[in-house]
Amino acid sequence: MSERTTAIAYEVVIGLEIHVQLLTDSKMFCECATAFGAPPNTQTCPVCLGLPGALPVINRKAVELGLRTAVALGCRVHGTSQFHRKNYYYPDLPKNYQITQYEYKIHPPLGTKGSLELTADTSPRRIGIRRVHLEEDTGKLVHVEQHGQILHSLIDFNRSGVPLMEVVTEPDLRSPEQARLFLGRLRSLLQAIGVSSGRMEEGSLRCDANVSLRRPGAELGIRTEVKNMNSLRSVERALAFEAQRQEQLLDRGQPVGQETRHWDERRGVTFSSRTKEEAQDYRYFPEPDLVPIAVGKQWIDEVRASLPELPDARRQRYASAYRLSPYDAGLVTSSMPLAIFFEATVGHYPQAKTVANWLAGDVAAYLNAEGLEIEETALTPNHLAELLRLVDAGTISIRTAKEILPEMLRTGASAEQLVADRGLAQISDTAAVGSVIDRIIAEHPGPASDFHGGKTQALTFLVGQVMKKTRGRANPELVNRLLREKLQS
Ligand SMILES: [Zn+2]
Repeated sequence: MSERTTAIAYEVVIGLEIHVQLLTDSKMFCECATAFGAPPNTQTCPVCLGLPGALPVINRKAVELGLRTAVALGCRVHGTSQFHRKNYYYPDLPKNYQITQYEYKIHPPLGTKGSLELTADTSPRRIGIRRVHLEEDTGKLVHVEQHGQILHSLIDFNRSGVPLMEVVTEPDLRSPEQARLFLGRLRSLLQAIGVSSGRMEEGSLRCDANVSLRRPGAELGIRTEVKNMNSLRSVERALAFEAQRQEQLLDRGQPVGQETRHWDERRGVTFSSRTKEEAQDYRYFPEPDLVPIAVGKQWIDEVRASLPELPDARRQRYASAYRLSPYDAGLVTSSMPLAIFFEATVGHYPQAKTVANWLAGDVAAYLNAEGLEIEETALTPNHLAELLRLVDAGTISIRTAKEILPEMLRTGASAEQLVADRGLAQISDTAAVGSVIDRIIAEHPGPASDFHGGKTQALTFLVGQVMKKTRGRANPELVNRLLREKLQS
């Protein structure tokens, strides 16, 4: 990826389509199991194999999970909503149509017109949710290759008919970074309400993005759809690449083609995979084998009452209860595991502001650089609390704490153990620091007399020399105080 950023002349416009595998035990329209990893074609029946005459029956649990999402996102939930057939031919789709929901006014999807606030950014921004709808997954093609050539392909129908929910945003996102933050926030919400495991690398959360460029205020430009992004970080990287690719085309006066492009994680590029169909090519029409979903007010009220604290509310609670800045509160609630980590750490070390500063600062920097989530590191709340207590007690300097933190994240080592093993404890012993100061003053008579002459910056130089001599381990406050005393005596 090039370092060059998109010029101000263009505005990036991004909309996301997020496919979420719902946490149900059985499939969308039959009783087959959804468990991952079973031998191929062992979880199938006439319905999910698309055999003629087999009739689908809607999974109530899947509708309820869709409903939880729609309510949590503040969507308008429609009293009756309808399934549709999306017609296309592909070997992993034996019926030749996918049962899904489309955006017809008279046959609406489960929920429409919601929003989610993006806060871990410079200013809060509401991202519109166009719709939340339910659909079924397709089967999976397994290609058997030899020397890079496909010999034949096999089809596993275990995944066919697995319940999916699609969340479609309005094109309200204005940078690849915003897209990453939004997806993280949505994932955190879906985890909090028990709808999804949120594991992108396992495919239980998949994100496609529509990207276009325009001059600010102008009509939307031609968009491309980017697929195959398997982590939050790859979403940001892929969109940054794609925005830049489009910018170069437009700068050369060449048109952007409406197409689907795949992200290649290893090469760091998107490549064209097929020309995008128009919606009319799918010939959507209401599914005649299914009655509309009826969602009464009572069901919606029950769902609303059963929702746990949502990330937005959690963020506001942290901001007021722990006196965190909007930025810090947004960051520590940006994923459910991070929020749980924050609260657990505060349980061991009550200075919440300090905990948030470390999580938003050095911990976040490490996670970004490594492309990891907090739960994928070896750091425990207890160990982070211990590290902060060592700083408070003056046993180690903040600098030393910052130095050992990455190792704690990587290996799960305890701060006390690392400090003891490496002799990193801060020197707070007056006699020990005093003798180093005496040597420094003797070695640098010039700056010492400059200080006597009123040049206070000479003190800064001498403090620096003491810190260098002790490899940063001398207690800085003690060094300052002793040095002044000795110079003035
Ligand atoms: Zn089945």
